[in-house]
Amino acid sequence: MKFKEVYCYNCKKSLGRYNEKYFSDLKMAEIIKANHASHVHEGHQIVIKNITTEATS
Ligand SMILES: [Zn+2]
Repeated sequence: MKFKEVYCYNCKKSLGRYNEKYFSDLKMAEIIKANHASHVHEGHQIVIKNITTEATS
């Protein structure tokens, strides 16, 4: 499984993981605006990390 993880350097935490299959880069930008705007407003540095996990089934 491939995920895009939204990570905030200032808060030092992951803000959410989104399945790469369903979330394009454009969609990610929309999600950050809609769901994580408070971090952006405070000038936090948000990055999108690509994460791959092993499928377990
Ligand atoms: Zn933050």
